[in-house]
Amino acid sequence: MEYQAKQLFAKHGVPVTEGIVATTPEEAKAAAEKLGVVVVKAQVKAGGRGKAGGVKLAKTPDEAFEHATNIIGMEIKGLTVNRVLIAPAASIEEEYYFSFLLDRANRQYLTIASVEGGVEIEEVAKTNPEAVRQIAIDPGTGVDEAKAKAIVAEAKFPEALTDQAVQTILALWKVFVEEDATLVEVNPLARLTGDVLEALDGKVSLDENAEFRHADHAEFEDKAAADPLEAKAKEKGLNYVKLDGAVGIIGNGAGLVMSTLDVVAYAGEAHGGVKPANFLDIGGGASAQVMADGLDVILNDPQVKSVFVNVFGGITSCDAVANGIVGALDILGDEATKPLVVRLDGNNVEEGRRILAEKNHPLVTVVATMDGAADKAAELANA
Ligand code: GDP
Ligand code: MN
Repeated sequence: MEYQAKQLFAKHGVPVTEGIVATTPEEAKAAAEKLGVVVVKAQVKAGGRGKAGGVKLAKTPDEAFEHATNIIGMEIKGLTVNRVLIAPAASIEEEYYFSFLLDRANRQYLTIASVEGGVEIEEVAKTNPEAVRQIAIDPGTGVDEAKAKAIVAEAKFPEALTDQAVQTILALWKVFVEEDATLVEVNPLARLTGDVLEALDGKVSLDENAEFRHADHAEFEDKAAADPLEAKAKEKGLNYVKLDGAVGIIGNGAGLVMSTLDVVAYAGEAHGGVKPANFLDIGGGASAQVMADGLDVILNDPQVKSVFVNVFGGITSCDAVANGIVGALDILGDEATKPLVVRLDGNNVEEGRRILAEKNHPLVTVVATMDGAADKAAELANA
């Protein structure tokens, strides 16, 4: 969100005014009493807030109260506004656009810069493509002062701002690299009265793969917006993505789970159009605890009517997985209420099937093939 992006900007020396975050109209009013004339800005992880009525100028604390009353609770692009940023109003002369991002196709970084910012850059790119400059950045050398100067020249930022623009670009590059971001965007990067350059808005996407070296990034996660089942799965360290269907899926290995989703969707066509309810990869070494955690998340999804456990024993042998399933059902006890279709194959499959047959759990059906098991799971979900 903007206020979080601005925290990161401030930390790395990007010129910015952080403002005050408010979650109630009273807090908004109190903030305006401190700051004077302010802008009340909806905080959601989406652009176009201004257009949607989520950015309003307030000349008095009472106006700030009123705008906050209207903005808190409103929806912007499907996201509910839970807080506003109260920022001192700036006197804007011009608005520019600036971003660093990953250019996957060309395996490098990219700068997009335009002196026609403030509005949606996609629109400018359509109506006036010449005004949107794209400058490649070699990941080996990154952005040093010479490169920053070249960017400023190419973007045609005004002469009077050259030094400030160079320093701002170097600071934004620090945000991009040191925070492990995949996107750092400023729109508008504004020229204020008196030729002062300031980032009036900010958007930063952080690379989750680098989470382990940024303990402080955890606070940026919007727990309120996260799906509760996904949040629970994340807490347990599971690779889970909630989908809309009725067949819960557990598998080992992302490729197998992806194929399982396809096979279940296909089988579902013959059973009232049922679809997969989730993606869940329990990875190698499916212990009883991991299996129980996975089943626990899936069984708590009210949309789930049946569960398909699809495991190929590679490094993990099928008997370990079968013991995992049996152990999980023991751990869950009465909480396990939905039918489970299990397909095991690969390493030590005979022993795995024997363990499940011996347990003879009333909820478990073992099917030998992936297609057969998908069909059975879809049928049970549609029953
Ligand atoms: P977005 O619509 O989600 O990108 O939100 P922005 O933070 O970019 O705000 C939208 C527009 O509101 C900006 O392009 C500015 O024109 C205007 N705006 C934002 N902050 C201020 C401010 O402090 N003063 C003034 N005068 N306008 C502002
Ligand atoms: Mn903006």
